[in-house]
Amino acid sequence: MNCPSCSSSDTYRCETAHSQGSSSGKLSGTSTAISSGWNVAFASHGGSVRQTSHFATQAAPPPIPREFRGNAFVGVSGCVGILTGAFLGGILALVLIFNGGGDSVPLVFLLCVGISGLFGAAVTYRPPPTESAKEDYQKKYQEWLKTWICARCGHKWIPSENP
Ligand SMILES: [Zn+2]
Repeated sequence: MNCPSCSSSDTYRCETAHSQGSSSGKLSGTSTAISSGWNVAFASHGGSVRQTSHFATQAAPPPIPREFRGNAFVGVSGCVGILTGAFLGGILALVLIFNGGGDSVPLVFLLCVGISGLFGAAVTYRPPPTESAKEDYQKKYQEWLKTWICARCGHKWIPSENP
């Protein structure tokens, strides 16, 4: 596969370039090719290569949209909310008891716990990604899988399906 921009044969699939560039490992043959074309800080020790390469960054997959990262903290903040609610509810309950309103203590307590639990969860809740956002990302990712990158000039392109 030659680069359509500079006709160099020093080209890689983005996926390959990214995985080679972002992890340490052996780069036989291609390492010199990549470092000659790019200002890459290669540390070569007996054939193993460790580097943070600009090339790998260039070849990185499309970034994952924020809303895809899920709701990992919803449960935690919900629990924190419930605990806070229990604390406030407890104080309120004591106040009620001292003021002769003991009958409404369970209701007030539950309301406090419920409301602060919901509030805590709502603070960190993110709506799930829409179907179109998912499809959009899938499309970008699939395109990335087909994308090639030139180690000499940095040109990125998607080869035609029928070369
Ligand atoms: Zn090129």
